[in-house]
Amino acid sequence: MLVSENLGVNEKGHLTTGGVDTVELAKQYGTPLYVMDENLIRKHAQSYKNSIDKFYGGNGLVCYASKAFCCLEMCRVMMDEGIGLDVVSIGELYTAYKAGVDFSKVCFHGNNKTDEELEYAVELKVGRIIVDNSYELERLDKIAEKKGIKANIMFRIKPGIDAHTHDFVRTGQIDSKFGFALETGEAMEAVKLALNCPNVVLKGLHCHIGSQIFDINPFVEAAQVMLKFIADIKNDTGHEISELNLGGGFGIMYTEKDDPVPYENYMEKVSVAVKESCENLGIKLPFILIEPGRSMAGPAGITLYTCGGVKNIPNIRTYVSVDGGMTDNPRYALYKSEYDALVANKADQPKNTTVTIAGKCCESGDLVGEGMPLQEVQPGDIIAVCATGAYNYSMSSNYNRVPKPAVVFVKDGQSKVVIKRETLDDIIRNDI
Ligand SMILES: *Cc1c(COP(=O)(O)O)cnc(C)c1O
Repeated sequence: MLVSENLGVNEKGHLTTGGVDTVELAKQYGTPLYVMDENLIRKHAQSYKNSIDKFYGGNGLVCYASKAFCCLEMCRVMMDEGIGLDVVSIGELYTAYKAGVDFSKVCFHGNNKTDEELEYAVELKVGRIIVDNSYELERLDKIAEKKGIKANIMFRIKPGIDAHTHDFVRTGQIDSKFGFALETGEAMEAVKLALNCPNVVLKGLHCHIGSQIFDINPFVEAAQVMLKFIADIKNDTGHEISELNLGGGFGIMYTEKDDPVPYENYMEKVSVAVKESCENLGIKLPFILIEPGRSMAGPAGITLYTCGGVKNIPNIRTYVSVDGGMTDNPRYALYKSEYDALVANKADQPKNTTVTIAGKCCESGDLVGEGMPLQEVQPGDIIAVCATGAYNYSMSSNYNRVPKPAVVFVKDGQSKVVIKRETLDDIIRNDI
């Protein structure tokens, strides 16, 4: 079974992505190599966008959470699809700026934005700055005053919903570094403070309950909690919040164990709940934003490695060494994330071994996965790890001074480099 719909096997028995032979790509561009299927990225962008049109009268905006995978070309593809962008740092802001993104469709997040970042965001007239805490609110109000620009803001709220996902990616509960809690009253205090800040405009509220979530119910519950708070704000202050940002977090298939919901279903269910709550609470239907990251980029990507050696330790395990590892994919080291792998040049053969794929860094924990079913593998074989489009390149590092791989987009049988492979001189470019 192949975990992403765009993967296939050709007549040579080679793995294909978007119809392109991955073994040929490895030959042409070298390994390790990230390959992303542009058509699949576009398809996912369209399904989110269409779901807002279909189920919520188009009264919303999809923003791609660029931290999943950010580069100029990815920003351009999103722009072309009419998708906005989520950014969380000055580097992502700058990338969006250089790509020519429409900043009215940008959301700027972060629990500790620096003055430099806030100034830059205000200058660029970012559509929505998602304010995380009161200290940030006060600083932003001053910065906006200094620049003579009113800043549109949303508040990051902890709705107190447990999304049952990995502890490191749960963000909606009270014990989280992100945002304002509802239970303690701090969120309402912040709203009142914002209404007294002359240089910010409180447009909306934001929540993001976690990542790699398969159940729609937590999203529905979060929407209900947020709408109740919008009604409370209206009753308490007379101010009507016009926008609700429900964040991202939609799960994808990494291995056969994962059973993701079709992307349209989120808006379908959430829209029903939002309309019902608004009616009951006597508030206007808000403009809705959603921020998928992983689900937009993840399934479209694979990583290609060359096998450098196989170490069979009898009765213990078989290590398959690849020419990358935690430097290009730190997610197993971080979260024990599981992936599906296959030998790209033997993709038509059965997986009758079980292996540990090891990277080349000086860390025993530098593994791509353990207990992974794989075809019989030999040095020189090309190993593909699937669904690596999100949180792989964007989390990559130069540990051990390993140069970062190139990223190639494939589309309609063609391939092109969108991020060049780092050179050895890139490795020392900031050394004095
Ligand atoms: C990470 C993040 C997202 C995207 O999450 P995914 O799980 O990749 O969909 C959206 N919004 C915010 C605020 C985030 O921090």
